[in-house]
Amino acid sequence: MSEQIASNLSAIRHRMIQAAEKAGRNADDVSLVAVSKFHPQEAVEAALKAGQRLFGENRVQEAASKFPQLRENWPDLKLHIIGGLQTNKAVDACRIADMIESLDRPALSNAIEKASQKCGRLPGLLVQVNTGDETQKSGIPRKDADAFIETSMNRFGDNIRGLMCIPPESEDPVAHFNFLNDMARRHGLPVLSMGMSADFEAAIGAGATLVRVGSAIFGSRPMTVS
Ligand SMILES: *Cc1c(COP(=O)(O)O)cnc(C)c1O
Repeated sequence: MSEQIASNLSAIRHRMIQAAEKAGRNADDVSLVAVSKFHPQEAVEAALKAGQRLFGENRVQEAASKFPQLRENWPDLKLHIIGGLQTNKAVDACRIADMIESLDRPALSNAIEKASQKCGRLPGLLVQVNTGDETQKSGIPRKDADAFIETSMNRFGDNIRGLMCIPPESEDPVAHFNFLNDMARRHGLPVLSMGMSADFEAAIGAGATLVRVGSAIFGSRPMTVS
């Protein structure tokens, strides 16, 4: 298993570099978030041994069961929470995450603000935009996004680093990536988290600075949530 993960990681890194070159971008400006949801701690360790340091998890509870122990041996490990976040998980998220990529509503802003006071630490934050306005998906609706980003930047200052999106599966993702890129520029935000196993090269072409890749590194999952 660990050899497979190491070789998958090296293939993904290679493809990221090629995609950056093709887009005339510096490959160092794009980071890989290895999405380890539903995969055991040993899989994360295999990736760590292969040099990967940045990981993404959807669910706070699952992240809390895997990552605190790993941090003891790998102090430079970084963890992003990338899934829809319930307000009652905000305290745990603030405790364990270096970044929360799924800030998407005022109630969650309130919960994160309170939680950060309680924990004495505020992770970096990305506003998740529901670029396809899909009812089942988390993310702030398109029409509310500009105002929400502005309010969030006033409230959290530099902790608001950028934007994240998950395009609808049935559509060409590039239009969504371009939309998110325009929105981030408008607000002067540097971080763009977009692109997954199936479309990370296109996302790099459209300006992604974080790509979130799961199955192409760790293999398929028993079930998926978003
Ligand atoms: C699972 C997940 C990913 C990774 O998806 P893959 O298709 O396995 O690469 C990326 N982003 C989010 C928000 C996810 O939930």
